[in-house]
Amino acid sequence: MAEVRVNASVSDLTRIERIGAHSHIRGLGLDDALEARAVSQGLVGQTSARKAAGVITQMIKEGKIAGRGVLLAGQPGTGKTAIAMGIAKSLGAETPFAMIAASEIFSMEMSKTEALTQAIGVKIKEETELIEGEVVEVEIDRPASGQMAKTVTAGDVVAIDKASGKVTKLGRSFARSRDYDAMGALGGLLSVWWGRAPPPKFVQCPDGELQKRREVVHVVSLHEIDVINSRQQGFLALFAGDTGEIRPEVREQIDGKVAEWREEGKAEIVPGVLFIDEVHMLDIECFSFLNRALESDMAPILVVATNRGITKIRGTAYRAPHGIPIDLLDRLLIINTQPYSEKEIRKILDIRTEEEDVEVADDAKDLLTKIGVETSLRYAIQLISAAALVAQKRKAAAVGVEDISRAYTLFLDVQRSEYAQEYMYNEAEG
Ligand code: ATP
Repeated sequence: MAEVRVNASVSDLTRIERIGAHSHIRGLGLDDALEARAVSQGLVGQTSARKAAGVITQMIKEGKIAGRGVLLAGQPGTGKTAIAMGIAKSLGAETPFAMIAASEIFSMEMSKTEALTQAIGVKIKEETELIEGEVVEVEIDRPASGQMAKTVTAGDVVAIDKASGKVTKLGRSFARSRDYDAMGALGGLLSVWWGRAPPPKFVQCPDGELQKRREVVHVVSLHEIDVINSRQQGFLALFAGDTGEIRPEVREQIDGKVAEWREEGKAEIVPGVLFIDEVHMLDIECFSFLNRALESDMAPILVVATNRGITKIRGTAYRAPHGIPIDLLDRLLIINTQPYSEKEIRKILDIRTEEEDVEVADDAKDLLTKIGVETSLRYAIQLISAAALVAQKRKAAAVGVEDISRAYTLFLDVQRSEYAQEYMYNEAEG
């Protein structure tokens, strides 16, 4: 039991760390025509990859990408994970998004099937009472004769009929009961629509006339349901040894429960997105599992990323583009990411220093950008917090050139580290 808890906290930590590196990303930064704005929602440049990701997001939203996936391919540090985060953000909280590195699949904590259930969501509907003054959203369903349909806007007062589920517009919040009759007649019948447009205000209507109920929708992953249920019902004993994996018996019970909820109209299955980084680390067994899994109607949308070109498929003697077997590659839409220009690196560093709340002098930023161009973007990003600490030690208000230089000598980038390890044991290229 203790082991299960330890495992949970380790994966929580990796999640926090990984989100941290991309916390500045709030979406794909596209306009209505799905064109990428140069700098928007935390993303810089990489415009054609972002546009392609936008088209894919649209396809996911419209349910048009079943049985297929996306491959983000490009050199290290060219924003593949950043773009995957952008996809997750623009899909919104209602689409489950699970992110794992391929090597995690081999860890003792998670089986391959487990990873997939993390990305399959269940929408569960629940009815609750509306509270006076609560904000709800409504849209006219059947306008009164001779009227144009229009959406109720912020500040509108509505009442909901429990029996029919219809919502009646009573008026604006300032008008309240005085205008009830006139506005009620004018407003026509509305039906509830829970979405994202500006919400109207709900104010309790005259006693006894109308009831106030609404539907609340939660989205949880199948994996979360598994975990919750297995704990609540004392199923912990069914966890297979130290793997923390859900045993098939529990799995079947949960699937049965979800099927029951679906039939009663209480639950709906929403396929989420499963992002697998370093996909070339998967082996042939994982690839054939994924290939088969993509065919199931509960399969999540698969987004994978790699920085490898032609490489060996793990577990075989064969080489293939990106180390991915051709039959799976065939199902993937490929998006390429390109190396950044100096200007773009500067802009990304500007965004990161702001995100990390670190004041950096202009000449120090020039130096950091130069380091980014000559070593790697990720290394330059990592130097920000190290340099901030150095500056703090000498009680400086802003990071200066000397702090960047100091951090640069303290921590090696890959090239210098490789040079320093010339005399270490190096494995021969196989
Ligand atoms: P790898 O192949 O090594 O996994 P990657 O292509 O996934 O690399 P990221 O991890 O996305 O690269 O990028 C490195 C860092 O730079 C991250 O902190 C990321 O958020 C940031 N970054 C990369 N590209 C952009 C971009 N276009 N706009 C803003 N930030 C970016």
